[in-house]
Amino acid sequence: MIYRTLKDNKGEIPAIGLGTWEIGGRDVPDETRDREHIDTLSRAIEMGYKHIDTAEYYGGGHTEEIIGEAVSIFSREELFITSKVWPTHLRSVDLHKALERTLKRLRTDYIDLYLIHWPNPEVPLEETLSAMNEEVKNGRIRHIGVSNFDTQLLKKAVSISKESIVNNQVLFNLEDRQAMNELLPYCQDHGITLTAYSPLKRNALKASTEKLLTGFSEKYSASVQQVMLAWLLGKDGVVVIPKASKLEHLRENLEAGMIVLDREDMKMLDSLE
Ligand code: NAP
Repeated sequence: MIYRTLKDNKGEIPAIGLGTWEIGGRDVPDETRDREHIDTLSRAIEMGYKHIDTAEYYGGGHTEEIIGEAVSIFSREELFITSKVWPTHLRSVDLHKALERTLKRLRTDYIDLYLIHWPNPEVPLEETLSAMNEEVKNGRIRHIGVSNFDTQLLKKAVSISKESIVNNQVLFNLEDRQAMNELLPYCQDHGITLTAYSPLKRNALKASTEKLLTGFSEKYSASVQQVMLAWLLGKDGVVVIPKASKLEHLRENLEAGMIVLDREDMKMLDSLE
């Protein structure tokens, strides 16, 4: 497993995490496949996944419950759990309560990385970050970060927070690469890790990209999805969180960490239109 160092010098984040959107429902709970999801998550951890990405929003809280049950048989200290607070819970009083519920559902007494899921201009960032800083002191959050913040807003968060902002989680894949313009260079210059969500573009690549990647697949004896992940992992400070429910997909994605694209290929993929 590749790790990225976190800026607050209090640890590292596994560079390949497991996404959990749509496990146990979208925005409301769906309990019909719980047993299957719990088994898949357990198999993923046995396979070597150490980092799980979730959010209070997913499955209306049920995704965290499923994860809580799946991880209960493993050593908590060996896992890195990210969760996110929804934009309607960014007032101090709401954030403390939201975190309390998340901890209960995940059956843990701390979250490794707690992110503001989306910005909310109605709530002062100072108030939210101050509540998150307090929870770091309380020991209920190990690291803090943000998600879907542009460079300007990230700079603002960095300037406000006493605790380091160690991560920004944004849309980033071979076709959705706006992050490369300004955000990624800023993060790299400031030691902030950048987590790429939807790193596989939910399997909805344009036919032309897919065709191009097939050539890389052959060269590296890898799947198209592994090439997509290897390209992201070839960048300093980037973390990926592909979601997979099929065991062969889980295994493939984990093994993508062993594929190193050569410099020319990285450059070529960097310059795609
Ligand atoms: P994604 O990871 O880009 O794609 C998931 C899809 O790819 C699933 O249909 C999965 O199929 C398939 N897949 C996975 N590995 C594969 C492989 N090796 N070969 C072929 N197909 C493969 O999409 P995502 O779920 O949108 O993004 C990942 C995670 O990012 C989410 O689950 C969530 O945790 C996070 N996220 C965060 C935000 C945010 O606002 N912060 C927004 C969106 C997502 P199977 O399930 O059938 O295996």
